[in-house]
Amino acid sequence: MARKPLIAGNWKMNLNHFEAIALTQKIAFSLPAKYFDKVDVVVLPPFTDIRSVQTLTDGDKLLSRYGAQDISPHDSGAYTGDVSGPMLAKLGCSYVVVGHSERREYHAETDEVVNRKVRATLKHGMAPILCVGELLEVREAGTHVQHCTDQLIAGLKGLKAEQVKDVVIAYEPVWAIGTGKVATAADAQEVCGALRAALAEKYGPEISSAVRVLYGGSVKSGNISELMKGEDVDGALVGGASLDGEEFAKLCALA
Ligand code: PEP
Repeated sequence: MARKPLIAGNWKMNLNHFEAIALTQKIAFSLPAKYFDKVDVVVLPPFTDIRSVQTLTDGDKLLSRYGAQDISPHDSGAYTGDVSGPMLAKLGCSYVVVGHSERREYHAETDEVVNRKVRATLKHGMAPILCVGELLEVREAGTHVQHCTDQLIAGLKGLKAEQVKDVVIAYEPVWAIGTGKVATAADAQEVCGALRAALAEKYGPEISSAVRVLYGGSVKSGNISELMKGEDVDGALVGGASLDGEEFAKLCALA
């Protein structure tokens, strides 16, 4: 099955709402409108910028697609500082990053919490971008494929096969995030292929061939074409390089 490539820019905790507007406009004006028929381009701003990005949406152009970097597993209530699925859906979000390694590390998010967030995202009609990836010591021990597959299966626990079709998976080796040390195309394909095979085993070939699997970790315009040569690599989750409008648009154009 032909899968539409997806390039998602994770802005992390960067840019105030004025800067978010400027960057969004820069990306939108740097790519021809018909480009978005071919590739889905998504921005993932901090919560405080989502409303500003929403005001720039325009029909089916780039910025009809944006999302959030986290979600509460709860719909409402006494959870100070958290943002819920109904709030994000109301703001027009299409995607939510779930289980990013920075959330797992700094907020002690377990696979169980990640699974609840995946379910909360789907419940409110948005697509989770479920991140999995190994630390350097896991790769050095040679158990990275099993590690990532385990994270994937735990993150999807309890979902029906037709729900899994709407999930985007991002393979993000932790040692490659923000370090400038990008995985080789063969490394990326090895894990992305194994994740798709695990989906096929559990949910069947129709589902596994529909799910988009991204690579993330020091992606930039200079390495995106090579990384996307892998038959199971359907795009990228991009951190640092998504903060520079010119560079991000160039990267998207090469995807
Ligand atoms: C990320 O934050 O998901 C990421 C991949 O960051 P970077 O591209 O900066 O490595």
